[in-house]
Amino acid sequence: MIKNSSNTATILQTPIDYLKGVGPSRAEVLRKELGINTFQDLINLFPNRYIDRTRFYKTADLQPSNAEVQIIGQITGFKEIAQKRGKRLVATFRDDLGFIELVWFRGHKWIREHLKTHTDYVIFGKVNLFNSVFTMPHPDIELKTNYDKSLSKAIQPIYPSTEKLSNRGISNRVICKVMEQLFLQLNGRFEESLSSEILEHQRLISKSEALLNIHFPKNQNLLSRSQFRLKFEELFYIQLQLILKNIIHKSKIKGYRFETVGDYFNTFYNKHLPFELTNAQKRVLKEIRIDMGSNAQMNRLLQGDVGSGKTIVALMSMFIAIDNDFQSTLMAPTEILAFQHYNGLKPFCDLIGVKIALLTGSSKIAARRVIHEQLESGELQIIVGTHALLEDKVKFKNLGLAIIDEQHRFGVAQRSKLWKKNDSPPHILVMTATPIPRTLAMSVYGDLDISVIDELPAGRKPIKTVHRYDTNRLKVIGFIREEIAKGRQIYIVYPLINESESLDFKDLMDGYEGIVRDFPMPKYQVSMVHGQMKPADKEFEMQRFVKGETHIMVATTVIEVGVNVPNASVMIIESAERFGLSQLHQLRGRVGRGSEQSYCILMTSHKLGENSKTRMQTMVHSSDGFEIAEVDLRLRGPGDMMGTQQSGILELKIANIVKDKDILSLARHWAKKVLVADPKLSDPKHQPITQTYIKMGKYKNIWNYIS
Ligand code: ADP
Ligand code: MG
Repeated sequence: MIKNSSNTATILQTPIDYLKGVGPSRAEVLRKELGINTFQDLINLFPNRYIDRTRFYKTADLQPSNAEVQIIGQITGFKEIAQKRGKRLVATFRDDLGFIELVWFRGHKWIREHLKTHTDYVIFGKVNLFNSVFTMPHPDIELKTNYDKSLSKAIQPIYPSTEKLSNRGISNRVICKVMEQLFLQLNGRFEESLSSEILEHQRLISKSEALLNIHFPKNQNLLSRSQFRLKFEELFYIQLQLILKNIIHKSKIKGYRFETVGDYFNTFYNKHLPFELTNAQKRVLKEIRIDMGSNAQMNRLLQGDVGSGKTIVALMSMFIAIDNDFQSTLMAPTEILAFQHYNGLKPFCDLIGVKIALLTGSSKIAARRVIHEQLESGELQIIVGTHALLEDKVKFKNLGLAIIDEQHRFGVAQRSKLWKKNDSPPHILVMTATPIPRTLAMSVYGDLDISVIDELPAGRKPIKTVHRYDTNRLKVIGFIREEIAKGRQIYIVYPLINESESLDFKDLMDGYEGIVRDFPMPKYQVSMVHGQMKPADKEFEMQRFVKGETHIMVATTVIEVGVNVPNASVMIIESAERFGLSQLHQLRGRVGRGSEQSYCILMTSHKLGENSKTRMQTMVHSSDGFEIAEVDLRLRGPGDMMGTQQSGILELKIANIVKDKDILSLARHWAKKVLVADPKLSDPKHQPITQTYIKMGKYKNIWNYIS
């Protein structure tokens, strides 16, 4: 018998083979199929769902719509019925009001040998109406006397299962039994892993009570409270780890301290800023300024919807660096984007005498050499470019700030490569237009600081978005003609999700030919850009469109990121059902950049699944990137969203990042509170937290940072 909880902690590390009722062969299956190695792992195998077995039905009350029902009665006879392949075994099961039929397609021998007639059983399962008789295939069946004795009879847990598990006889019932055995062996006592401060403040139930009720719920209320407590705990430790990482980073990685906001910034701000900054832009600039003014390295993610005005924030941040005699770089994922940034920023730089240059893969050798020299001498103050900036030959005199636009195209490895170019790392600002739902950002980027521009510049006309079926194509063509007649330009985008798929490619080509037929030369000029073209050809076609020489740009998603053509007012997305929500939103962001009313037309076939319908409706009704991202997360789950793979949030055992966002916020609040008060987790009142954290194998980091 177990005396105290620290003993329990040791016992929990026992290999699962040693649990009564498991043994080596079952242990093997549990390990392979569910990753259960130890007692602890089994305790943390949380049910997927529960079924309510508090209620009993009478056979006479059954409805065809009943999902799962539980009935008490007796088997009064068996019969075997031949069918196309093999036989099925049918038992008549009676209660005092009527009967139903139990049906088995396998395991007849065992059933005939073990199930007794005229004995009380409790059966449980789904009923179907079959030839006007209610039948229950492969029921869960248990002797009434056993049922009365069992621990888990009211609300029954259903554990995760796999085909292999059930083939090897490890049914849900077996797992319940094994779990029961484990609880008996452990005396149901577990070490508390949260501080009493948190438990009391949040009125959480104890760890022991939560674990008991998650596996053997006494009632619905206790079950809910157990779920809440365990989800909270799980999210709390993820947040604790992320915030600690951030603290450690700040204490270890010193950054340059930009103390002054000087002439470059002020002159620009007072004399040349072409518009009033939005409040969100001001707030974010202030956050960046404070970061760069402290002596820790900035590591900040700047989220802002397409068109929210991230570029000006980037530019003004770079001016602060220059005011402090440091160089800055702005890195973009494509040449087109780098070029646009350079063109957009150069006039401002010229106004206040800041020296800026562009470096990309296609920069000429001679020009490159000059740039390299001027970067090393410090003459160049801002360098805009692509991956070409990461080459070893590129050396800075003193790089103080590195800004990365559209970060999902750059890996973490590349980011760290960038900062190795100096003695001290530059401040890093990562900008993304792919809004990440706040809940997800908190989990994935909890170790970065996050700024959000959640406000569009005033006077923007919302883009009108409509959903049209392919059968309306003629009207759409007519609409394009009208817009071109008004002097506007049009994007038509085709899915080329996998560039090697020849079918996609054929769609694009067919589409292009159709467009050229409907919009013949010389009256109309049509450009086309796709991923299989040479970069130079792509660039050439892009430029024709940017300069307004072509009316229509037929393209694949290569235009997704950043391109700015204010005169383009219509975005037509072909086979829109094949795009994800965030991609659709990104594409739509290509229009609505000028003063004219803009439109987005989502073309689909008539056959649309539920999910696709929701996506189209969301696009039509919402223009808020964060709202769209939330729906996207709900539809797709976090697995497909950027950055989630590394973060471990996909391995959550009980919490759900989408459904439990309130618990997540609460957990983050507490993790922060604990660490603000006690950054080294050395206060005795945090002992349960420190202990748990050590056991998770994550304490090493804190140790490094203390010493
Ligand atoms: P994104 O965040 O998508 O990179 P940009 O920085 O390209 O957005 O800004 C989009 C457009 O909005 C640009 O033409 C920019 O000059 C303009 N803009 C940015 N901030 C403001 C503002 N505060 N008021 C008016 N226009 C603005
Ligand atoms: Mg941008």
